[in-house]
Amino acid sequence: MIHHINESHKGETLNANHSSVLYTVYSNRHQQTAVNSGSIADISNCFCVISHWSLSIVKMKLSKNIRELTLSGRVGFDSLPDQLVNKAKGKGFDFNILCIGETGIGKSTLMETLFNTKFDSAPAPHTQPSVSLKSESYELVESNVQMNLTIVDTVGYGDQVNQEGASKPIVEFINKQFFLFFEEELKTSRCLELYKDTRIHACLYFISPTGHGLKPIDLLTLKLLDGKVNIIPIIAKADALCSSELQKLKMSIMADLKAGGVHIYVFPTEDGEGKIEKGIMYPLAVVGGRDLVQVGVKTVRGRQYPWGTVEVENEAHCDFVKLRELLIRTNIEDLRELTHQCHYELYRKTRLEKMGFKDENLNGKPLSVFDDLNDQVSRLQDEMAKESEVVVEANGKRLEEEDAKADQVIKQMQSKFDVTRMEMEEEMLKLEESKKELHDEMAEFQRLSVQHQMEKLSTSHRTLSLGTFRKPRKSS
Ligand code: GDP
Repeated sequence: MIHHINESHKGETLNANHSSVLYTVYSNRHQQTAVNSGSIADISNCFCVISHWSLSIVKMKLSKNIRELTLSGRVGFDSLPDQLVNKAKGKGFDFNILCIGETGIGKSTLMETLFNTKFDSAPAPHTQPSVSLKSESYELVESNVQMNLTIVDTVGYGDQVNQEGASKPIVEFINKQFFLFFEEELKTSRCLELYKDTRIHACLYFISPTGHGLKPIDLLTLKLLDGKVNIIPIIAKADALCSSELQKLKMSIMADLKAGGVHIYVFPTEDGEGKIEKGIMYPLAVVGGRDLVQVGVKTVRGRQYPWGTVEVENEAHCDFVKLRELLIRTNIEDLRELTHQCHYELYRKTRLEKMGFKDENLNGKPLSVFDDLNDQVSRLQDEMAKESEVVVEANGKRLEEEDAKADQVIKQMQSKFDVTRMEMEEEMLKLEESKKELHDEMAEFQRLSVQHQMEKLSTSHRTLSLGTFRKPRKSS
């Protein structure tokens, strides 16, 4: 489905509104459209494809009205593809593969088999509490061409009892890589030439050979990945199935994918040599093997069993060779291009729309970016003014309410205070009265006590004057 976009747009201007120059590179063996509105350097990304083709015509088109002229002699601009190839050779290219599959399904083995090298990655245990993504980068050089390969592994995928959230980190990872590129693109001083592209170009989805089709977790993850990456489902450990079982499984997987509305990456049916790749039955079923085994006089990569040998590179045994051909030899550039032109474009479009950018105004007229920006700024200013009005009004109301509440509280406190004061004053009066009574009583008491003293004194004088002092008689 994704590839159909590519095929159906051969020779067309995909973003004709914005492109100032359209370079269409025709090959006499294969046709590929490299559309770009940017610099020549952007087109250099196509070097992988171009290096395989013998280029015959390079056309520059601005509109349908442009006349085609025949040159009377060689000028030299036909060396453009060579210039691009040389330039691209120098800086190398990024290719990022995401491997999704349960722990132990054979991801690392297949990667090592595909690139014919040992990557030194430690096997993950089955004890991970959640899914995490581990990415490792390598520099591989073949005939002076450098590939900056990044392999991203889904550690712990399928290991949890509850697998509901297993796909979330994967989707987040993919979106994050798009965001990083988007951020770089928006920078004032950006350097996309030197930018390490981390966007996923190919997503190998490893399907277990033990089921009768796709498991719910497979379908859920694939559905979430649809439209975000080039999905390449593969049946892992295909040596676990006999041919008839493999065919059945392939058919049931394709039926599940169709029913689930999942669009997978369909490899272009022509290879670099122009011959049609026939008999590809998706998904490809592969066998991985790190060991070299002896089969007759040949030493081959394979897996040795007590009953015989499974040869990884034998097309009668599995689809490994097809996968390597289609993935690495013929379609790296197609995968990179689709990632940039379809998946990243979709992300960018959605992101910009979320930010409020649009290509047309309300009347359906095209807007330039600056008009759009001005529109956004005035819209934001209007929104801010409205919001501040609302805030001021709300604050005013709130203050009024608070004032009224405070007044009420003050009134309540005042009346309480008045009551208390009156009570206190009454109390004071009572106290004053009691004090006065006490004073009176004390004065009365004093008076009485003085009187009593006086009386006592007068009584004692009388006794002394009235009585006769007699000396006691002496007894004879
Ligand atoms: P990963 O955890 O998904 O990276 O799995 P590994 O690549 O570490 O492989 C786990 C085990 O599966 C190893 O013992 C491999 O030898 C074995 N294995 C890998 N590929 C195949 C295959 O195609 N067929 C069979 N039968 N075993 C395989």
